[in-house]
Amino acid sequence: MLLLDGKIIRETKAVELRSAVRELGFTPTLAIVQTGSSGRSREYIAAKQKFAEEIGAAVELVGFGNDVSTDEVLYEIQRLNADPSINGIIVQLPVSRDIDRRVVLEAVDPSKDVDGLTAHSLRSLLENDPQGFVPATAKGILLLLDYYHVVIEGKQVAIVGRSLLVGKTAALAFLNRNATVTVCHRFTNDLPQATKQADILVVAVGKSNLVGREHVSPGQVVVDVGINVSDGEKLAEEIPAPRVVGDVDFAAVKDIVAAISPVPGGVGPMTVLALFENLLEAARRQIGTL
Ligand code: NAP
Repeated sequence: MLLLDGKIIRETKAVELRSAVRELGFTPTLAIVQTGSSGRSREYIAAKQKFAEEIGAAVELVGFGNDVSTDEVLYEIQRLNADPSINGIIVQLPVSRDIDRRVVLEAVDPSKDVDGLTAHSLRSLLENDPQGFVPATAKGILLLLDYYHVVIEGKQVAIVGRSLLVGKTAALAFLNRNATVTVCHRFTNDLPQATKQADILVVAVGKSNLVGREHVSPGQVVVDVGINVSDGEKLAEEIPAPRVVGDVDFAAVKDIVAAISPVPGGVGPMTVLALFENLLEAARRQIGTL
């Protein structure tokens, strides 16, 4: 079984991105708009800040409390849109309770939409038009497969999960790479039948152990996008050790499939990498060198 190791790719690509940043001649800057302060959001933001530092990019964090209104966030996004020193803007998801997610995502200037979630970028994805930005998670999944030379064209791809953030946008990204795509969800009648026939299985649900032995087949490539915090095993001192797991029962399927991405260390680092590749692309477009 081949382990699709995202951490190795992130390290290799960080070197390339660092020299690309040097060539740019200025510090590309990503603004992160954070509403509320869940522990997981803080971790995701910290991972982005760390990677930015590694490659010589900058992050401007604009943080709001849980009680922020949509209008206040919109005002800030408009300021960031108008600021020429900001090359990319993302709204950290999930947004806090009172925020209209679609309205704030849509407020981001398409030329700075490095998460690829404005209608402009989504339309580009629908039309397979390179003008928009490919959403970071979908792009990250493709970066992972491309690094390991997994052929996508002509292959059967099954995706479990149909959120805009992951499942649907990944489905379009695979379609644009000439795969034949099946999208599964809670109403899929026979999930094992749908997932077993795929050459590439992508799971993005948010439920640990959703995919087990009965869902996979020999020779398959499995990409586990899920991030779930399990209670973990009890330590000797009876202290629970929380740990991050994916949606796939890794131990149960690892001896059946040809390749699988681990959680953590698979798609997660790829999403961060994809985001900063988009940031560089945005910066180059803004100065007219792309
Ligand atoms: P989401 O919006 O909650 O969507 C979950 C999807 O899973 C829905 O489409 C849902 O179907 C489907 N689903 C739920 N139960 C199912 C079942 N029993 N069988 C089949 N499908 C089922 O979640 P999301 O934002 O897409 O995120 C999914 C997971 O990926 C989460 O764990 C998230 O943390 C993780 N994630 C990871 C990264 C990364 O970089 N690694 C990035 C983004 C998200 P319905 O539509 O029918 O309800």
